[in-house]
Amino acid sequence: MKLKDKAVLITGSGSGLGREMGLLFAVEGARVGINDIRPEAAQNVTTEIQRAGGVATAFVADVASSAAVKQMFSDFLAAYGTIDVLINNAGIARTRQSDQQVLLATTDLTDDDWHKMLATHLDATFYCTREALKTMIPASRGRIINIGSIAGTAGLPFASHYCAAKGGIISFTKSVALEVAKHGILVNAIAPGFIETPMTALLTAEAREWVIRSTPAGRLGQPRDIAAAALYLASDDSSFMVGQVVSPNGGWTTA
Ligand code: NAP
Repeated sequence: MKLKDKAVLITGSGSGLGREMGLLFAVEGARVGINDIRPEAAQNVTTEIQRAGGVATAFVADVASSAAVKQMFSDFLAAYGTIDVLINNAGIARTRQSDQQVLLATTDLTDDDWHKMLATHLDATFYCTREALKTMIPASRGRIINIGSIAGTAGLPFASHYCAAKGGIISFTKSVALEVAKHGILVNAIAPGFIETPMTALLTAEAREWVIRSTPAGRLGQPRDIAAAALYLASDDSSFMVGQVVSPNGGWTTA
């Protein structure tokens, strides 16, 4: 087992990539914290892990709220006593509940669209990282894995708020990594290409075809591809990785 007894908190793990990481990490012996904004989603994944013989607890919180994040960490530490690995994964592709449209021209973005996207991805990554470091620095160990995107490395058209948030996460990762490496804390990012999850189920048939054409592997990736990269970055196998961006993306290079 690569993560025996490690206390791992995964944000937004009631679905998609986070859920897959939770399932895999529990099999590897971790005690997993399943955070989600939706109580039912967090509880379902927690139950799924427990039924498979793993250790998991649900932590319902909106990670875009500084106060909610502080409370979540207090609850997590009360349950598990420490935090060894934090995965900042929670995210959204669209900012308007009533509007299924994911792609928006920059001129059509409202202030609310912009702030909601930045808050959910970038503010949340900062809030959770700040809380985790308060425990990891005195312990002189820890791993933080931030979920970026090819949107943050190559850019994507009609998603400038999402790309800005993901680009910010990647720069934040590099800075914090340099700051805390001397404490034995390794901070890295994963920049997935397009992966089959409920988030990409929102793509129109036309957008999906464009993604497949633009991906040399000729398909979307699977959540397992990202969970495997996260396991590597969380385990002793990656002890010399500092401030890196690992990008399982099927060969995607274009914007
Ligand atoms: P997903 O299936 O929609 O899962 C994301 C989860 O995060 C959802 O359960 C979502 O709840 C939750 N969430 C949203 N806002 C939250 C908040 N403020 N606090 C707590 N939880 C919150 O999406 P996914 O594809 O697994 O994406 C996971 C991460 O990977 C995201 O950061 C995404 O940007 C990134 N990513 C995904 C892809 C891809 O192709 N799938 C590619 C690159 C990067 P709701 O369902 O209620 O919103």
